[in-house]
Amino acid sequence: MEYHFKRQEISGDRVLFALSLDKKSGKERILIGSETEIIKKLWNDPDAMVYYDEIHPIGTLFINKRSDGTDWTDRGFMPLWNALHSNRWKQPELEQAASDFCAKMYQSGDPFAIYTAIRLWDGYLRAREPRDRERAAELFKIDLAGLISPLEKYSAENLLDRSITDAIRQSGDEMKMDVWYPARTDMECVTAYRSFLPIIMYYHARLSDWSLYFRSCKVCGRIFLAKSQKYTMCSDKCRQEMKTQAKRDFDARAIENGYDHLYKNETQRWRNQLNKAKKNASPDQLEVLEKSYQALRKEALKRKNHVKSGRSTEREFTDWILLQSL
Ligand SMILES: [Zn+2]
Repeated sequence: MEYHFKRQEISGDRVLFALSLDKKSGKERILIGSETEIIKKLWNDPDAMVYYDEIHPIGTLFINKRSDGTDWTDRGFMPLWNALHSNRWKQPELEQAASDFCAKMYQSGDPFAIYTAIRLWDGYLRAREPRDRERAAELFKIDLAGLISPLEKYSAENLLDRSITDAIRQSGDEMKMDVWYPARTDMECVTAYRSFLPIIMYYHARLSDWSLYFRSCKVCGRIFLAKSQKYTMCSDKCRQEMKTQAKRDFDARAIENGYDHLYKNETQRWRNQLNKAKKNASPDQLEVLEKSYQALRKEALKRKNHVKSGRSTEREFTDWILLQSL
């Protein structure tokens, strides 16, 4: 069922965000709708009307959530808050701005955003009812504050360093959550209305009960859910990529060791000659020898760097240094 962001009669039923985790199948299911309709959906009633019902591998809710910098307060909340305060003739324009924004968020595919968009609009419609405008605006703020302000923090990146759970502990808000065991199912379902935080805490607690951890893949950077904290790569593809890279590094080192070894041998040979000359040769001969050695060393280092940077080949270097020792 599609939600429309327009003036409409408000329903008696509140819209809930429901989450059910299934350890056995490794899936998360998220539903958005009224309690009655969600229940019907869970019973597989074909007539159930919800705004969202999707099943994904466990962890997807957070893995797909990106910190996209959307300013919910400025673009969603404020126009409606202003509409509650302003003259009736100014309202349509403000409502339109918020409606366009909410409709866009509703299409985003992110369940957090879909739910928040619906709640924002539904909360506004409910707040429009009382005659006292100041009071209406105040109630609207209380109703929505817990949903909107922390929305950016729910990405998996943030979950990795536990900053969310820490933020929740420090928020000072009381967290309340309904845990729900729908009749005729073996499901455990939790629902959110004013804040996602209890649901996130619940999700986290379940993951740690089941020894699952969010990790960042050291090859592709993707966030994934791992069965142990020691896993560092997300897939076989990335493990293969890591192996290929390691082999490449090894080969490059082997080549470097080859010509580097030759360079060290040659310079050592020269130093031995110099040491001998210090005992036997005249100062003039020694000076000539010393200068030749410094010149060779300088040239060799330059050529070695050229091999390293790809400007010349290892073969060219080897040929050259072998010529020097003739
Ligand atoms: Zn990866």
